[in-house]
Amino acid sequence: MRIPPGLAAVLLALALGGCASLPRPTGPEAPAWRDARVLESEPASRLLLEVDRVQGSEPRPRALRKLALRLRDLTDKPDGITVVVDDLLPPEAWQESDQVLRSLARRTRSLERPAPGSLATVHILYGPRFHGYRGFAWTRPVMARTSPNYDAALILIFQDQLKSIAWITDVRQEASVLVHEFGHTLGLVGDPGHGSGGHCTNAWCSMYDGVDARTFFLYFFPTLFTGYLPMRYCADCSDDLYPEDDGVPPGRRRNP
Ligand SMILES: [Zn+2]
Ligand SMILES: [Zn+2]
Repeated sequence: MRIPPGLAAVLLALALGGCASLPRPTGPEAPAWRDARVLESEPASRLLLEVDRVQGSEPRPRALRKLALRLRDLTDKPDGITVVVDDLLPPEAWQESDQVLRSLARRTRSLERPAPGSLATVHILYGPRFHGYRGFAWTRPVMARTSPNYDAALILIFQDQLKSIAWITDVRQEASVLVHEFGHTLGLVGDPGHGSGGHCTNAWCSMYDGVDARTFFLYFFPTLFTGYLPMRYCADCSDDLYPEDDGVPPGRRRNP
């Protein structure tokens, strides 16, 4: 099958583009970007992913499994990563308003609330849509500003934007958006050395956001022919997380 170049470009743009960056920390209240390394700057050795979803926008189990597998390599959680799919919400609970979605997150956040420091929690809320984005994330400090009793980082995933495009499967797209949004909850990418507009400037990084000549060059053939999508953080982003360990999570060093 011959694919016209114009269509190929559209396929690639659809598969790679469309993440919302975090509201950029600006002004005097902005935390130094290193303070925003939420999950990895605390001693928690376990990670809980609490997943709630709106009816009709359920997560794809294989995408969540891919995320959990990838996080085993990307984070330092030697006592395990647990994924729990929890509340099912009626479609009318969903509104395209960040205030409504944050309050929905407060209402549905329900699992295990142990002493601070023993467990890191990321809350993932699945719904149909939000202004054409595919995913969105708020770090815990950002959430805490408006919701003092909310103790997690929040990821939103919008299933209406995650449909298979030719052989770029919906599972791959969902998994790659999850890894990208998870990076935001870790506090990536505030380092001005390789970050701009809340995203990484390295085109091969999962935290890169956008489709331009470089991603086109890097991903055109892998994405077009194998459905490949980025699922890793680049060396610069990894270094920001584990500066003392050359970017490798301390528990995963081969020769500690
Ligand atoms: Zn992003
Ligand atoms: Zn990066």
